Amino acid sequence: MREDLFKTEKLKVISELAASVSHEVRNPITVSKGFLQLLMSPEVSYENRKSYADLSLKELERAEVIINDYLSITKTKPEKNIVATMEDDVYYIANVLKPYALIHNVKITTDIHNDLLVKYNQHQLQQSLINFAKNSIEAMPDGGLLSVELRSSNSKVIISIKDTGVGMTKEQISQLGEAYYTTKETGTGLGMMVSYSAIYAMNGKIKVESEVGKGTEFQIILEEYQDR
Ligand code: ADP
Ligand code: MG
Repeated sequence: MREDLFKTEKLKVISELAASVSHEVRNPITVSKGFLQLLMSPEVSYENRKSYADLSLKELERAEVIINDYLSITKTKPEKNIVATMEDDVYYIANVLKPYALIHNVKITTDIHNDLLVKYNQHQLQQSLINFAKNSIEAMPDGGLLSVELRSSNSKVIISIKDTGVGMTKEQISQLGEAYYTTKETGTGLGMMVSYSAIYAMNGKIKVESEVGKGTEFQIILEEYQDR
């Protein structure tokens, strides 16, 4: 019952998104085309040529970001679920984000211990953890600490992603997961939407604790898998 309700809701979200994402992607592509056309004209100076090419590339990259954030929600199939402790996945995302953390002057610490099994879609879980952790890193413009933890208690498995970043107000927290909610100049506002949908699809819960100027902790809470 709950599953069916969620599916209907998810389909609705996806079709609404598909409509607006194609619109969102069209903008940067149109702008990029414009710069390429300018490049073709013979009287463009060398400096302008370079700047048109740069701008065109930037716009294409933006289209790519929008597609990356969005596609992760549509391309997964429920039958791809696995049963595992998630330890490998949490290690994986902590490692995969190291270069990104490094350029942002962020140190990553890990504390990963869990022997309870969880049933989950591996691609969706990894994508959503990456989205949470990327936001954490981006919330620390002057560097800081990102701690990634996995632990279990009372047949629940908890992933914690905690930063020492800018933090959020109550009102900002309440908007998390809404499509296109972003406070960043070049944000898509799709990352949290994708992550929240993915975690809810696994019947998981998300807890947010945040203080402006101090930092934020996201807790993703999943039930232990019972094979009965
Ligand atoms: P984007 O990263 O493109 O802005 P997201 O959907 O990933 O879009 O995030 C939406 C917004 O949520 C961000 O713009 C930011 O304001 C807020 N946010 C998410 N995670 C954090 C965090 N760890 N610290 C502070 N703000 C955050
Ligand atoms: Mg993001």
